[in-house]
Amino acid sequence: MSGTGQNERKPGVNAATASFTWLGVGEAPQILLMAALDDPETALLVFDAELILLGVTSQIPRLLELCTNEPLKPQSVHELFSISDLEEISLVRARNQLAQLGQRTQLDADVPASSILLYSKDQARCVRMRLRVIGDQWRLASFEAFPNRLPGNESGELPIRDKLTGLPSRVMFENALTEMLTRRPEVPCAVLRLSLDHLTPVNETLGHAAGNSVIRLAAERLQQAVRASDLVARLDGNEFAVLIHPAPTMTEPAKIATKILDFVHRTYLVEGQLINIGVSVGIARSSDDNRSVGLIRKANLARSQAKALGGAAFCFFDSGMEHRAQADRITELDLRAALPLNQLEVHYQPQVNFATSRLIGFEALVRWRHPQRGLISPGEFIPIAERIGAIVPIGEWVLNTACQEASQWPPDLTVAVNASPSQFDTGTFPGLVRQALSKTGLPGARLEIEVTEGILLRYGIANLEILDKLRSMNVRIAMDDFGTGYSSLSQIALVPFDKIKIDQSLAGIKGDDLKRRAIVRAVVSLGRSLGICVLAEGIETLGQLTRLQQDGCDLVQGYFVSKAVPASELNQIISQWNPEAKSAASNREPEIST
Ligand code: C2E
Ligand code: MG
Ligand code: MG
Repeated sequence: MSGTGQNERKPGVNAATASFTWLGVGEAPQILLMAALDDPETALLVFDAELILLGVTSQIPRLLELCTNEPLKPQSVHELFSISDLEEISLVRARNQLAQLGQRTQLDADVPASSILLYSKDQARCVRMRLRVIGDQWRLASFEAFPNRLPGNESGELPIRDKLTGLPSRVMFENALTEMLTRRPEVPCAVLRLSLDHLTPVNETLGHAAGNSVIRLAAERLQQAVRASDLVARLDGNEFAVLIHPAPTMTEPAKIATKILDFVHRTYLVEGQLINIGVSVGIARSSDDNRSVGLIRKANLARSQAKALGGAAFCFFDSGMEHRAQADRITELDLRAALPLNQLEVHYQPQVNFATSRLIGFEALVRWRHPQRGLISPGEFIPIAERIGAIVPIGEWVLNTACQEASQWPPDLTVAVNASPSQFDTGTFPGLVRQALSKTGLPGARLEIEVTEGILLRYGIANLEILDKLRSMNVRIAMDDFGTGYSSLSQIALVPFDKIKIDQSLAGIKGDDLKRRAIVRAVVSLGRSLGICVLAEGIETLGQLTRLQQDGCDLVQGYFVSKAVPASELNQIISQWNPEAKSAASNREPEIST
């Protein structure tokens, strides 16, 4: 269409590749000419605040595949788009962007270029559109063909767009990042890698269609959380990435990650069900690595770190993560073999009743006897086992071992077994508990399953059903680590717990912390009215013990009573605390004295 409009300007140096046609009244302002001729690979549309087309460069008809041979005239940009080859969803997105642009009045310098990818109807082509404001009068849309194949894979038919969410695919993301890093290395950018957590129970309990709906809704929220100039892509399954450009400081990615956490964590309503999921975010900046593959990998390491912190967090990459990742890989390999090589042990920590000074049972706590590193605490290896999926067989083994052991104890003693969220994810947990009980002959009422509040926060209803199944076997449920997370008193009232374990951070107070004591008392009083007993964890001193007893706690667990001990030492503990019980006799008859 070059040469068809009024006041055509021949661009000097780039005359062979592009020309600019001014459709507006009078001469084209110099600033627009300069913008138009700045980059011959970029096609431009110039329009005013009312979105009326004022100027075009010669590549526009080809890039947008306009279905007309008529010369372009001043018309609305929407009309122009409607005769293009762009698919409907892209048109909607383009219209939204244009609508936002119409509201802006700042000078060009103040406004970051917003950039979105537009796809042709057959999805075979992709064009990147950027919008900017020039002065109060003019708006500029620039278009450039966006590569849809990976370098070195030119003949491959790789998907440029994710079918489920409509977001750019992994290929597109990698292309965009590579291009950004090579074409504009001086502009710092950042990559966010995110994984949506806890989708498995949604898929398993509500079906894959519901899981897909959650992914789609989460993808929309991600787009709302980022700036127009950022690129959101779905990499795979529950994995997404965001390219933040520009990101001159850590502030921009941190702000966007915070917004993402906020948006994604809000409850979803799918098929009449309220669903909560989580998201872990890792951030790497182009100053960490200037190759796209390296940057994406580093963002992933940071994401793993965020997830290891319990999810619902974001982490920036730091070089220590590479070393930790290396060490973790070795631990992972060893851990996979730990169970078959019989390197795991269960130790038992006593729980004692304040009022009667009697032992009521033990908590089963797993340990890993590593041939080189010695006894490793679960705090160190459980998160790794969670990540590699080894927690499911390990948890099953602990459950069976603990039930077997408890079946040998006096019949009034209970055993508490910790359950990880991933064990709940599989949906098979109640079945495994039933099997463990029937295999060992332990009555359900002597088994207690400890869950953390995270389990309930995450899947709500689905996990409540699992808890109900456990209760139908008379198995008791304890809320572990109360006070470490978000659990609220209202949650305690809504979920059918038999026991609340107040975490050491709240119960093991050194000195007289009035606020924390007030919380403990509130929990105790709620527990009383709901018939839930309250245990104080991590009690190490007599002072702590006295305070907790005054505050009304029913049970105590902690080093003051005993550390977790191997099964071989249990008889001694049992006979110390419950001397009439049938076990090895002990000379000392301990008492909780305050
Ligand atoms: P938890 O379930 O809250 O267990 C209590 C932890 O506090 C235990 O740490 C215990 O040894 C420690 N502890 C008890 N009394 C005191 C005290 O007076 N002072 C101090 N400083 N610590 C005390 P441990 O055995 O290292 O276990 C850590 C966590 O690992 C457990 O916390 C639990 O969340 C997890 N865990 C342990 N065994 C298993 C298991 O079989 N499966 C799963 N999923 N998680 C487990
Ligand atoms: Mg526990
Ligand atoms: Mg605990």
